Amino acid sequence: MVDRLKGHPWKTTSVGDETDSICPRCDDETIHRVVAMKEKKIHLVICSRCNSQHRYRPSLATMTRKVPLPSERQAKVLKKVESARTPRRQLSSKEWQALKEVAGEMEPLPYDPTASYSEKQIVSHPTFGLGFVRMVIDKSKIEVVFEYEVKVLAMNRPRSQ
Ligand SMILES: [Zn+2]
Repeated sequence: MVDRLKGHPWKTTSVGDETDSICPRCDDETIHRVVAMKEKKIHLVICSRCNSQHRYRPSLATMTRKVPLPSERQAKVLKKVESARTPRRQLSSKEWQALKEVAGEMEPLPYDPTASYSEKQIVSHPTFGLGFVRMVIDKSKIEVVFEYEVKVLAMNRPRSQ
């Protein structure tokens, strides 16, 4: 009976269940066992790879889903940006001008190295200002076009405790 329910959406997670979480020690997304729940949410987990116990960090897939993606109207403007895209890591004034147009349409997300970003998102960086995620390099790096330079920034970095 228990086995039949396993994996079904209506089955709520409880202590002892397995779940995907970001492990700060492994610096990776690994399978974790739930150790404690708080207000019906997963609170503490143990990493199945390194056995360290830490707070639950939603998996990359979960975090990505939470980041708002551009609407259809915004996507049209974003196409302009793409057409002005430079082939190499060089700044094109055309690209930045197109970006500024999009920036007016979208709410920039504050840049946070522990957050997860997708291509075409607008970020606001405390030093470099408004930036545009041109490319997701891998699960921990993004290439961002700022007004005066193109930078490679970190993402999905484990939050230090
Ligand atoms: Zn681990």
